[in-house]
Amino acid sequence: MASININYLNLPGDYLFLEISRRLQAYAAKNPKRNIIRLGIGDVTQPLVPAVMSALSAAVLEQGNNETFRGYGPEQGYAFLREAIASACYAGLGISAGDVFISDGSKCDIGNFQEILSPKSRVAITDPVYPVYADSNVMAGRAGRMAANGRFKGLIYLPCTVDNDFVPQLPEERPDIIYLCYPNNPTGTVLSREQLSQWVNYAREHEAIILFDAAYESFIRTPGIPHSIYEIDGADEVAVEFRSYSKSAGFTGLRCGFVVVPPKVRARGLRGKIVSLRELWSRRQSTKYNGCPYIVQRAAQAVHGVEGQRQTSAVIASYLHNAGCIRRAFESLGLPAVGGIDAPYVWVRLPEGTNSWQFFDALLERVHIVGTPGVGFGPCGEGYFRLTGFGNAQETQEAVERLELFSL
Ligand code: PLP
Repeated sequence: MASININYLNLPGDYLFLEISRRLQAYAAKNPKRNIIRLGIGDVTQPLVPAVMSALSAAVLEQGNNETFRGYGPEQGYAFLREAIASACYAGLGISAGDVFISDGSKCDIGNFQEILSPKSRVAITDPVYPVYADSNVMAGRAGRMAANGRFKGLIYLPCTVDNDFVPQLPEERPDIIYLCYPNNPTGTVLSREQLSQWVNYAREHEAIILFDAAYESFIRTPGIPHSIYEIDGADEVAVEFRSYSKSAGFTGLRCGFVVVPPKVRARGLRGKIVSLRELWSRRQSTKYNGCPYIVQRAAQAVHGVEGQRQTSAVIASYLHNAGCIRRAFESLGLPAVGGIDAPYVWVRLPEGTNSWQFFDALLERVHIVGTPGVGFGPCGEGYFRLTGFGNAQETQEAVERLELFSL
């Protein structure tokens, strides 16, 4: 009999969302007439914009026509999209179309990228964190077992709490791989140019690689906040950037994202030989991936057009408006919150002594609103609660009105 990859035995159960759904179902069964508003949702609710729909429809028709039909495309993505990304997102930053790799979304890119780095690499993640960074390294055997404190023994944790203004401090122990996500999920916070520069300088000095998740880049509104890590000098030697059309253009169902791997990002091979990660990633993708669908790449290209930008920006503005209203509603209850300005996430600090599951139950029972307990994103999330602006505008307004009547 074959044996399994026993690292999988170290994976935590999908406890968070299962437990939310269990509590929600139990409450709904007891209160069938209640209109429950979900503000914990991490999925978009607005449909694809017209510019995307017309590009998508035109591409669908091409696929049914002898002259314009396309079969397998390049594994790294079509040149039309790679070029559109290089010029729309990275003009003046030294990134070329050849550094951009198209995929069917960031989750798989982020989960897969660690594969081309040594299984012995030391990995640093923030706490709280988007769970994919931790879990993909558990599968690869870098994280070891989870200790009683809810942290994997083999990972280096970078706490982000009110005590450090949610900005991770440079680690004492040197990591080889550092995952950073800004604008951040779940806290909704951003890093200033100076703060991001510190990380780039650290990575350069310590020969570490930063895997920079910029899935929420298009939500940045504050002037001066870097949209790309390549705005920082020297980042093209140490950083790989991940972006997604999921939240920026409503592609959570359509699926498209990309990774930027500049040629100067390198790591050690055998006998100290220096290897370009771009070549290795290209090799990996050619072997294990057959490319994002042509019709989806045409739809993604339309996001970068004038109409696509105008229309998707309006949708993002409406999610940010929701997030702002949610943040203010909690603040007026005396609960300080961060996020919701340059990100769709609002991270609420609960009163001393209230744990995040108690708050979940109180919010559900008293005002019939669902959010996400912060502890689900890591032990430092205990005492916090995540809400999102992705809900429907009308429901979000109703939730805000209900919150006015809420007290703990
Ligand atoms: N990165 C972060 C921080 C996310 O929150 C998400 C999705 O929720 C993703 C990546 C994955 O995005 P995609 O839909 O492109 O797989």
